[in-house]
Amino acid sequence: MPSVSPVVTPDRLLRQEVLALHAYAVPDSTGMVKLDAMENPYLLPLPLRDEIAHLLAHAAINRYPDAHAHSLKQKIQAVTGLPEDMDILLGNGSDEIIQLLALAVAKPGAVLLSVEPSFVMYRMIADFTGMQYVGVSLTQDFALDLPAILAAIQRHQPALVFLAYPNNPSGNLFDAEAIKQIIALAPGLVVVDEAYYAFADVSFIPMLAHYPNLLVMRTFSKLGMAGLRLGFVAGSKAWLRQLEKLRLPYNVGVLTQLVAEKLLQHHDVLLQQASQIKQDRVGLYAQLTAITGVQPYVSAANFILFRVKQANAIFDRLKQRGVLIKNLSNSHPLLADCLRVTVGTPEENEQFIQALQDSIR
Ligand SMILES: *Cc1c(COP(=O)(O)O)cnc(C)c1O
Repeated sequence: MPSVSPVVTPDRLLRQEVLALHAYAVPDSTGMVKLDAMENPYLLPLPLRDEIAHLLAHAAINRYPDAHAHSLKQKIQAVTGLPEDMDILLGNGSDEIIQLLALAVAKPGAVLLSVEPSFVMYRMIADFTGMQYVGVSLTQDFALDLPAILAAIQRHQPALVFLAYPNNPSGNLFDAEAIKQIIALAPGLVVVDEAYYAFADVSFIPMLAHYPNLLVMRTFSKLGMAGLRLGFVAGSKAWLRQLEKLRLPYNVGVLTQLVAEKLLQHHDVLLQQASQIKQDRVGLYAQLTAITGVQPYVSAANFILFRVKQANAIFDRLKQRGVLIKNLSNSHPLLADCLRVTVGTPEENEQFIQALQDSIR
């Protein structure tokens, strides 16, 4: 008779880092004005949707996708204006690329450094890949504290540095000269995360040729393809050749490859939507400024961070009025009483402003 093994429980089997994690929470948004996740609020023009429907009808979903996504990569390189001798690696969203980079450098004791508050996945992924995480606080107005960062780099010798440009959740662009000093001093890779590139007018892509330890990461999620899950990291061939080994062979599916390539053929449509969102951001910022007790922060992204008197209560009241935004109040000391709203359609923005005025009174 085979002996019965003792009952194994998650507590006993799983790594301590995993048990200690809090899962990334995604609230239910059914029926809400959804302004919490930096999505593009616009649908595609009907003719383009018809083209996509046709493409999908003929897609070979019985086959594995092109493992190298050749055609899509070429399209991305062309629309990105990538320097000649640079390459890209595709991910199932850029979240997957953060994970891949961490896995690649996670020797025992290796450090991932970022700033705080910033994108929460940097810390989460450091935790679950077994890296040490170092978060250097931003200043009160969410700027880089350059002396503190340079000191932390000297001290911890990070294998990876992540800087979101523009930063999420503050929306501002860090000083480009400060970022260059960080890249120059860092002993490892520096990843400039340009998730919001479509709403900012600046980029570190032209800097790739100057700094061999620089990688630039982008996602198409915020540009209108959040549902497709597609991101990429750009850098020199020497780095990407190695990193490619860690990419799971079919991480970008047939449907994503087909649709993303089609949409990038119509990049102008997406950029037009982004430019509309940028324009509406100006109006939304002005409206927020006009409400007593609301302090918005200048944004180069498709969202606005703002401070109120009682963020938790106002967040709840907005929700009762059918408007879902993001409550950051309890996530970091610098974000006390801060809320973040994604720029939606003009109608959604108006509904939000109305609900906010009603909630503050
Ligand atoms: C949204 C976001 C990402 C991840 O986007 P994906 O949907 O996983 O491609 C990465 N970095 C920042 C700063 C973000 O805000």
